[in-house]
Amino acid sequence: MAIDLLSRPAAPAPNTAVFMPELVYFEPDALLYPKGEQILAWAKKQGLDIHMTTSHNQIRDLPGESELEKYRIAKRTLVVGIRKTLKFETSKPSAEYAIPIATGCMGHCHYCYLQTTMGAKPYIRVYVNMNDILHAAQGYIDERAPEITRFEAACTSDPVGLEHISGSLKQVIEFMGQQEYGRLRFVTKYHHVEPLLDAKHNKRTRFRFSVNADYVIRNFEPGTSKFHERIEAAGKVAKAGYPLGFIIAPIIWHEGWEDGYAALMEKLYQALPPEATEDLTFEMIQHRFTKTAKNIIAQRYPKTKLEMDEEKRKYKWGKYGRGKYVYPDEQATALREFITERIFDKFPQAKIEYFT
Ligand code: SF4
Repeated sequence: MAIDLLSRPAAPAPNTAVFMPELVYFEPDALLYPKGEQILAWAKKQGLDIHMTTSHNQIRDLPGESELEKYRIAKRTLVVGIRKTLKFETSKPSAEYAIPIATGCMGHCHYCYLQTTMGAKPYIRVYVNMNDILHAAQGYIDERAPEITRFEAACTSDPVGLEHISGSLKQVIEFMGQQEYGRLRFVTKYHHVEPLLDAKHNKRTRFRFSVNADYVIRNFEPGTSKFHERIEAAGKVAKAGYPLGFIIAPIIWHEGWEDGYAALMEKLYQALPPEATEDLTFEMIQHRFTKTAKNIIAQRYPKTKLEMDEEKRKYKWGKYGRGKYVYPDEQATALREFITERIFDKFPQAKIEYFT
C-alpha cells in the first residue's frame, strides 16, 4: 500500500480560480443599465450576499473587527455603480490617458500602489455606464487625431480578473478595434483570458502580462495567477492575434536577482509560441515606494519581506512634492543593463519601451 502511494504522481497544483466576491453592493441607478441587471442576475445565480448602497464612494458598513479584517473583506467586496467622473487621468509613460472601467483589485500584491491611491476604499468598483465612458474616450481621440491616442485600462485595477463579471474590457477592446486613431493597452496578473480571445481587436489592443523573477512572485503576489498560468495565457492571446507585451514590475534587487531575472527570460523563451514573439514589447519598472505606502504596507502585510529601507534608496522628487524612493543610480543601471541584455539575447526583435 505504502509503495502504491509513493509511486503515485503528485497531484497537479489547482488552477487559480476566477474571483468570486463575498459581498456585492449595487447603487440603485446601476440597475437601470443592462450591465447592472446582468451583474445582479449573475450575483443571484452565484448565491452572493447582495446589498444596496446610495453611492459607490460610500460603503461604510463593511464587516470586520479590526482594520486588517476590514481590509481583507473589502478586497472581496464588489460595488456596482455609475462612473460620474468622465475626465480621464493621464497615464505616462505607457499611454496618454487612463480609461476608467473598474477601480480596485482582488489581488494582494504587497507592493501595489493601489493601497495608497485607494486609501480607505479598497473595495472593487465596476461601472455600468460604459457608453458614457466610451463616449468620453471618443472625445479624447478626436481631440488629438490624426495623432494616435493610447488608453491604459489597468491603471486602477486588473480588468482581466473582473471580466467574467463585467464584460467591460471586451467592450473597450472592440470599441478601440474600430478606432483608426485610438489604441488600448492593459496589463494583468490573471490568466482568465478566455472571454477576450474572440474579441474583434483589430490589433489595436496590446495585451500585456506582468511577469517577474520567481522570488518576487512567490513572496509578494498572493491572490494572483501563477507564473505558468500567465505564460500559458500569453500564448493563447498571441494566437488570437493580439500584439503582446510583458511588464517586468516591480524589478526588485534581492539576493540572487541576476539568476532570478535570467531564469525569467529563459522560461519566457521556452514557453512562448513563435507567434508571440513577432511583435513583442517589454516595459521595466524598478521598485519604488513612498513613506505613506511603507506605513500602509506595514499594517496590511506585517510579515512582508519587502525591503523598504530609505537609507538604501535614492529619493526621487515627484509632482506636488510627493517624491518616492527608488534604487540608487548604480543599482538601477545594473538592473536595467542586465535585464535588457537578457531580453535581447532571447528576443532580438523585441522592443523595450522604457525603464523607469
Ligand atoms: S494584481 Fe495588480 S492591481 Fe491587483 S493587487 Fe496586484 S499589483 Fe495591484
